[in-house]
Amino acid sequence: MIQESITHQCARCGSERLVRNGHDYKGAQKYHCKACGRYGTLKSQVGYPTTVRLQVQRAVIERMSLRGIERVWGISRQTVARWIAQRGQALEPLATTLVPAQSAEVLELDEVWSFVGKKAEDWWLWVALCRRTRQDLSLIIGANALGPVACICGNASPLIIRGRHR
Ligand SMILES: [Zn+2]
Repeated sequence: MIQESITHQCARCGSERLVRNGHDYKGAQKYHCKACGRYGTLKSQVGYPTTVRLQVQRAVIERMSLRGIERVWGISRQTVARWIAQRGQALEPLATTLVPAQSAEVLELDEVWSFVGKKAEDWWLWVALCRRTRQDLSLIIGANALGPVACICGNASPLIIRGRHR
């Protein structure tokens, strides 16, 4: 049998005159310092381990939902959203990471549509994707005949058109 003895000290005054004082909502032992009167938690959690953060970031990249991450890892979705924002701010600007276009690029056009509000309001979304680089070149939101023309006229440059033309 291996037995370990750990002596805890008050985080404020360093005294060892601590008594148990219940548990916090995560089940961690709370204490009361008889020397300075502080109430605190033993081994309070200070951030998540790096391995967990990397796993969660990988799950986000694989398009796992924030609520799904919350259920699997027990990390609040607000925390995950903050990590995503921090990672986004650490990235290089988009303009510096775009792959330059080459002549005779092959563009793939894709479309999706849905009713918005009522059946008379059918809206379309067209996306032009470069086959070689997988970069989105154009995103067009509008009514039926606008999209393909606008994609071609976009001339492989980033283009966003919002409009409704019947
Ligand atoms: Zn103390």
